[in-house]
Amino acid sequence: MKAARFAYERPVDLASAVHTLGAHALGAGDAKPLAGGQSLGPMLNLRLARPSHVIDLSRIEALRRIESQGLPANSALPAAQARWRIGAAVTHAEIEDSPALLDGRGFMRHVATGIAYRAVRNRGTIGGSLAHADPAADWPLALNALGARVCIIGPRGRRDVSAAEFMRAGFSTVLADDEIIEAVEGPVLSAQARWGYWKICRKTGEFPEASAAAVFDPASGHARIVAGALGGAPVALAGLAAAVARLGSVALTSNAVDQALVDAVSGLDAVERKLHVTALLRATRQVFQS
Ligand SMILES: Cc1cc2nc3c(=O)[nH]c(=O)nc-3n(C[C@H](O)[C@H](O)[C@H](O)COP(=O)(O)OP(=O)(O)OC[C@H]3O[C@@H](n4cnc5c(N)ncnc54)[C@H](O)[C@@H]3O)c2cc1C
Repeated sequence: MKAARFAYERPVDLASAVHTLGAHALGAGDAKPLAGGQSLGPMLNLRLARPSHVIDLSRIEALRRIESQGLPANSALPAAQARWRIGAAVTHAEIEDSPALLDGRGFMRHVATGIAYRAVRNRGTIGGSLAHADPAADWPLALNALGARVCIIGPRGRRDVSAAEFMRAGFSTVLADDEIIEAVEGPVLSAQARWGYWKICRKTGEFPEASAAAVFDPASGHARIVAGALGGAPVALAGLAAAVARLGSVALTSNAVDQALVDAVSGLDAVERKLHVTALLRATRQVFQS
């Protein structure tokens, strides 16, 4: 099957992209930003998406930068002021190849390296992944655990939304039709910070059946354990994270994790529950092993 007819625009600056999207997104037809086309391409071809305009973001230099702001990435100081910023059109492969200490502890690079296989990572982008909001995708989970922010631009100006609030449900976000994700910003973790990340996949390179991320930074008090691949948005287990931060690994029993999951998520069958508890235990145990 081939895509329905659409007009193709490839602006080279962000202002033109915002203007073009704003002009068409809310009109008679609709318009869609295009990043690497890893999800939008198949959706166009299957005619699940039939936009009147496709606005290719891949030539916009401002969306393609990886930047460090604030303290040097390997500082032992509390990293409250130090941030990194990754443009929305940066590919997973570019994050995989970025300095390990961009975020202080190599978390972003680890997550990028585990997404599908290199051919997908060469085209797929961090902004496209967030906007597409697949429940099993890596970035919505990882950025939620890290406490990152999603920077959005549109005809009404700029706004930032926490990654935890950005994804509302499976394939649904707070993004309006005429808004573009500009970048993702996150904290540089301190030298004492520890993280874990675990996915259970049938085959290497496939979307996971269960996934989990844990990030603890004693210097800033950050403590998050998040479950992914639940069919909707990732779910943070705040009580469990607080108990682990306070008591250490003794708080990390199968029963405690199972109870935290059941309290936060309803409708899981026994097999799903087992998979998610395993992913959560493995991810959080890595915190004590790293
Ligand atoms: C075979 C295969 C395996 C995969 N495995 C994994 C995996 O294991 N883990 C994982 O996390 N992902 C996986 N993916 C997803 C992939 O890595 C991409 O993240 C995802 O498909 C989005 O692709 P894209 O960046 O090319 O965006 P596109 O396909 O171009 O766009 C996707 C959606 O986002 C919108 N969009 C794109 N950029 C922006 C922006 N800046 N602002 C607003 N809206 C925007 C588009 O309009 C569209 O609705 C896989 C994909 C494939 C094809």
